[in-house]
Amino acid sequence: MEPGERYQRRLTEIASELSSIGLSVPGSLTVRRYRCGKAGCSCQSDESKLHGPYISWTRKISGKTVTRLLSQEQFDEYQQYFDNAKRLRELVREIEAISLEIVEKDPRWKAKD
Ligand SMILES: [Zn+2]
Repeated sequence: MEPGERYQRRLTEIASELSSIGLSVPGSLTVRRYRCGKAGCSCQSDESKLHGPYISWTRKISGKTVTRLLSQEQFDEYQQYFDNAKRLRELVREIEAISLEIVEKDPRWKAKD
């Protein structure tokens, strides 16, 4: 297969995956459980009694980091959207990588050397 043909085939596959990717929420999720400072709280001695989970969603809005807490129910529902956003970024990076490879091979770059 010609390199050009191979790239085109891969771009078509990516376009097809993009068309069905669904909702994609940007940002990252962190799940934390913690031990509080209260004397005698059961979290102090029992690993299974830690507080939480606290699920936080962090993203940048106009350069500022914004964090919101999600309920377990929201987390269960939105998890897929975060996974979709991650996949979306991977696919975009792949399109860019293929595009760079093609553009870098343009012999006209050498014309100015
Ligand atoms: Zn506690």
